[in-house]
Amino acid sequence: MKKVAIIGGGIIGMTLANYLDPEQFQVTIYDSGIGQATKASAGIISPWLSKRRNKKWYQLAKDGAAFFPQLVADFQLDSTVYQQTGTLIFRKEEELEALYDFAKQRHIETPEMGDVQLLSEAETTAALPLLKPRKSLKISGGGKLDGQAYLTRLAQTAEEKGVRIIHTNVRIERSGEQFIVIDNQQHTSVDIVIVTAGPALKNLLEPLGYQVDIRPQKGQLLEFETSHQSSHSWPVVMLDGEADFIPFENGKILIGATHENEAKWDLTPTAAAFDQLWNHAQEFLIDPNTFKNSSYTFRVGTRAYTSDFAPFFGEVESKINLFAASGLGSSGLTVGPLIGYLLAQQINGTPQQTEHYQKPMTTYIQKM
Ligand SMILES: Cc1cc2nc3c(=O)[nH]c(=O)nc-3n(C[C@H](O)[C@H](O)[C@H](O)COP(=O)(O)OP(=O)(O)OC[C@H]3O[C@@H](n4cnc5c(N)ncnc54)[C@H](O)[C@@H]3O)c2cc1C
Repeated sequence: MKKVAIIGGGIIGMTLANYLDPEQFQVTIYDSGIGQATKASAGIISPWLSKRRNKKWYQLAKDGAAFFPQLVADFQLDSTVYQQTGTLIFRKEEELEALYDFAKQRHIETPEMGDVQLLSEAETTAALPLLKPRKSLKISGGGKLDGQAYLTRLAQTAEEKGVRIIHTNVRIERSGEQFIVIDNQQHTSVDIVIVTAGPALKNLLEPLGYQVDIRPQKGQLLEFETSHQSSHSWPVVMLDGEADFIPFENGKILIGATHENEAKWDLTPTAAAFDQLWNHAQEFLIDPNTFKNSSYTFRVGTRAYTSDFAPFFGEVESKINLFAASGLGSSGLTVGPLIGYLLAQQINGTPQQTEHYQKPMTTYIQKM
């Protein structure tokens, strides 16, 4: 049996571990947890109205969203992990009609978006009673994923399959045909390494002689504990601007997220982020005092971006058993599970076509 090390236990690494064939591979996940984007994320699964022109990215994002019913079935995800409660989208009134037409076009090739509907002021407030009456666009197929709950569930199913999860920071060295995974305590020889470490991919591959096109970006969001017990059934709201509004179970409401390029790896919560997110969100609320007595915490994580804002995944170099995936940016919850699945298929020996999803690996990783 071949020994596999997955470095990074976020959404890609954890999904991948679950889909690797336990008859062929003895799998260990190494995860430091530091700056993890998956557990900090907002959870919006609704890529269809993105205006990004990158067709490969859109194909991956729409197929990533369409992959969720399979994930729900494979890992028996309940509604505390993933729920399809629809997405409300706010735009200036004059832009909303055009967006509606665009959504109807996209719906033709993507029926999994569900119903596309223009809501009146009253219908918007009925869909989510905290919102000011204002026209919006509703897409019924939009969903929300609790990143932390997803990882907890998939860690459980992975461990049931014999996967070991070790919470530690590691580095990699090459030794002949094999790789050595090194943490504080020990050196472990493995046959296959898969690096799913977000922006830290660059730091892990450079000592092996690879140049990687990846940069870190800080993201902060606010998690409110409110008394709104019907929040689980409310839709996700994509506000017009930098902040979104994501209601989960038991009154948990997220407002996020910032995109801070200069702050890079920094994980400090800031008052400036609070002001930016809260001031923006409260413009859309009927009663800004509604959260006045609610406690809140910050979530802070580090996203990974490539120069062309597109993810990549696959073999780093042919025939050396080194694989990588990163660059998921701000849509990693949407595309991450599909990427984990496709990587697993490749390593299991049943590869699928992925050229329609990404540029060649050499676009992002080159030998120095
Ligand atoms: C605030 C915020 C909001 C977001 N909202 C959304 C959203 O609404 N919808 C959406 O689709 N996406 C969203 N995203 C993006 C999404 O969360 C990420 O793209 C995705 O989670 C990245 O997954 P990953 O597995 O590549 O990396 P990560 O989840 O970052 O996991 C990588 C792991 O590798 C570990 N690691 C790194 N180096 C080492 C090492 N040397 N040794 C051991 N472990 C190591 C890290 O600690 C981390 O746990 C958001 C991100 C942020 C930060």
